[in-house]
Amino acid sequence: MPKKISILGSTGSIGRNALKVVDNLKSDFEIIYLTANTNYQLLIEQALRYKPKAVGLVESKNAKEVESQLNKINVEVLTGKEGLIEISKRNDVDLVLNALVGIAGMKPTLNALNAGKNVALSNKESLVMAGQLVKNAQQKKGAKLYPVDSEHSAIWQCLQGENKTDVSKLILTGSGGPFRERNINTFSEITPEEALKHPNWNMGNKITIDSATMMNKGLEIIEAYWLFDFGVEEIDIVVHPQSIIHSMIELQDGSVKAQLGVPDMKVPIQYALTYPRHKPADWERLDLIKLGKMTFEEPDYERFPSIKLAFDSLKKLGTTPAVLNIANEFAVYRFLNNEIKFTDIPKIVEQACGKHDWMESPTLSDLQNLIGWSKDFVKSYK
Ligand code: MG
Repeated sequence: MPKKISILGSTGSIGRNALKVVDNLKSDFEIIYLTANTNYQLLIEQALRYKPKAVGLVESKNAKEVESQLNKINVEVLTGKEGLIEISKRNDVDLVLNALVGIAGMKPTLNALNAGKNVALSNKESLVMAGQLVKNAQQKKGAKLYPVDSEHSAIWQCLQGENKTDVSKLILTGSGGPFRERNINTFSEITPEEALKHPNWNMGNKITIDSATMMNKGLEIIEAYWLFDFGVEEIDIVVHPQSIIHSMIELQDGSVKAQLGVPDMKVPIQYALTYPRHKPADWERLDLIKLGKMTFEEPDYERFPSIKLAFDSLKKLGTTPAVLNIANEFAVYRFLNNEIKFTDIPKIVEQACGKHDWMESPTLSDLQNLIGWSKDFVKSYK
């Protein structure tokens, strides 16, 4: 029986790669739902090809066009944020791939888990914002989270067959982004165009800026904390500019396990969809001889204060990681609109974390309120 899959965010970078994985293993999967934010043309194309039961389109102004094309082939069209929420709750699937970008992914993750569905999670923001709620939902329903993020997929693969108590450390690698060697005195002049050029990975805009500030690595520390249940002192970061080692674990006897591969998101996506199998694929192979060497460095906290902010937020927990994430996201959008400087992003995040009304165990509605508060806070920053 093919695995029935829902892809939330099918027109984004992860969503499109996921459909390449589906093409690679055609008979293994059946696409039941696809959703898009604004890219309705691609959503139509995908729906005509994969014939899902329904599609969701968040920005509803082009809904008529989508309906007229898809009603002919009996594909239901749901629109607006409500449409996405509705699809994330449906339980006639085996697995939900959450490939949404940012804050918008939080509720769908919770909905899918609450419907008892396993979630292949690319949307790290769900865990950063609502880690405890996600865990509670998982425990209540016995639903599983399968990491899609390449670092977490690597750690997940390294952990296979090991006793958790034998693992002493999680070591996340990061490329260091495009500004690893740039003169720090010129950081305030960094333009969105410069920040959108990532040396190794081809990704969406939000995560590419997060990689440039290295907030992405910060968010990934918090993601690792919730996924694998290791303390903040047991999670390390190593800068590895070639992005070949995707992450590592250190064991109690000093043995270190790493997962390697060419930087290609199809690999972790496919593993999340086929777990525990590593099914065939003819994608580019790692050629160690051609690669020649790998290098490692300490992360530079002066250049990239976001990493430290993330570590600090994890020590505080409660609402702090959520505010870190929300303020960062709105600050990134202001930076992309040329309204603030690159160096303002961590400043805004630090201030928001310090100024918000901290709570120990936020509910979903508390988090919703924090989204509003943080958005206003970021908007008012000059
Ligand atoms: Mg990653």
